[in-house]
Amino acid sequence: QKEHINKITDYLWEIPQSFRQDMKVPARILAFETLLDDIIEDRSLNQLVNVATLPGIKKASFVMPDVHEGYGFPIGGVAATSYPHGAISPGGIGYDINCGVRLLVSQIQIEDIKPQLENLSKELYKQIPSGMGKGGQIRLTPSDMEEVLVKGAEWAIENGYGIKEDLYNIESNGKLDSADPSLVSDMAKKRGANQLGTIGSGNHFVEVDFVEEIYDKHIAEVYGLKKNQVVVLIHTGSRGLGHQVATDHIRIIMSAMSKYNIKVPDRELACVPFDSREGQNYFKAMCAAANYAWCNREVISWEVRNAWENIFGNKGGALNVLYDVAHNIAKIETHTIENTDQMVIVHRKGATRAFGPKSKELPKKYNEVGQPIIIPGSMGTCSYVLAGTSKSHETAFGSCCHGAGRRLSRRAAKKKVNAPALKEQLREKGIYVEAGSFKGIAEEAPIAYKDVNMVVETVSNSGIAKKIAKLIPVAVIKG
Ligand code: 5GP
Ligand code: MN
Ligand code: MN
Repeated sequence: QKEHINKITDYLWEIPQSFRQDMKVPARILAFETLLDDIIEDRSLNQLVNVATLPGIKKASFVMPDVHEGYGFPIGGVAATSYPHGAISPGGIGYDINCGVRLLVSQIQIEDIKPQLENLSKELYKQIPSGMGKGGQIRLTPSDMEEVLVKGAEWAIENGYGIKEDLYNIESNGKLDSADPSLVSDMAKKRGANQLGTIGSGNHFVEVDFVEEIYDKHIAEVYGLKKNQVVVLIHTGSRGLGHQVATDHIRIIMSAMSKYNIKVPDRELACVPFDSREGQNYFKAMCAAANYAWCNREVISWEVRNAWENIFGNKGGALNVLYDVAHNIAKIETHTIENTDQMVIVHRKGATRAFGPKSKELPKKYNEVGQPIIIPGSMGTCSYVLAGTSKSHETAFGSCCHGAGRRLSRRAAKKKVNAPALKEQLREKGIYVEAGSFKGIAEEAPIAYKDVNMVVETVSNSGIAKKIAKLIPVAVIKG
């Protein structure tokens, strides 16, 4: 298959539009050659070519270096379609709507808390409900639920679970205005009623890290990051509610497609025009689920802050939100395409926004330096903070990778990894892991993921993001 891929630069490859008759644009891959060799192994490039056939797609379909195969779209995929008649495809957003990451910055240095790390990880595990389908302490009444779906993170703040300043440091301020709770099914609302403030299972986590290295002093200062400082990463999404929204609307969209004469090469790529009734209904429900996810990460931050206080008392200091980025979402944005500003529907599926300096949507304090991008690696390796650049807008609609990306399937990882031994090895490396099951640890073992350093080198060499800081884990709470 590699003979169909043209090399453009050391980190950019293209499958030309002529590769398959139904492609409307070329398909582009951001990756170093060694990563590309891995990528060719699964179906992700086939999926990338399928995405290039979507009605109204602009410029090219893209995958980031952390790509692997997903439902319809590859995970690590980006596609923009013309607004308002172009397609919206739930497969381009994924089942965990607004899965995302948030980074909290503490005032503590790692040396000062080494002796308390084990207690801290136990306390975090106690305060943050985790595990599949697990509920939390909050029970939302139907009217609370309406408010959460409309207000997003703001709901948490109004109800005593958050701090007002946090809102400025969340993508879209933690709330999408197009949300309409009446388009979220009762089943979805029921699944979400007791899951606010929970991380769920598997890939989701809360992790304590410290800053091991700073690459850009000025931007790190603007971000409030210093060497050896302790930070907390939170990764989760919209839980059962978002999953149900996706399930409900994928079913509707699949059966509506023929009405609009849309044919796609893979039924998982089901889509309708954005401005059709089904497209609008899905989009408004997706926005509501995205708001639920932002509220969820806000409530989890409150739980982290409680654990912090329980362990460090008044010596803990503040935990400030550096930023909160979505990585499974569709957004209406304006991008320059062929020298004209155009409104597009940007699908990011396992990809994060990476807006550069002077982008309208950024908080003032990040205006000069670009938005923070948070790239988790795995529980046993490092993670990174990067900054968005203007090059990201020119390349892939202001987007970047969202992680290291899976290399082994969950099943393959489970076969390969001895979880109790891994837990012990990580412990020896100075990383406390608290997880609901050894199965979860095996599936999430560092070898299940690609080399995060290579992934980050790709995006930083291609100029779509700038390396700011490297984070090293010391305590990981897994679902
Ligand atoms: P996803 O949203 O695709 O499930 O995961 C995003 C990324 O998070 C993965 O590609 C992987 O690199 C990273 N990741 C998964 N588990 C952990 C973890 O326990 N700690 C950290 N720091 N990163 C993780
Ligand atoms: Mn995720
Ligand atoms: Mn998720």
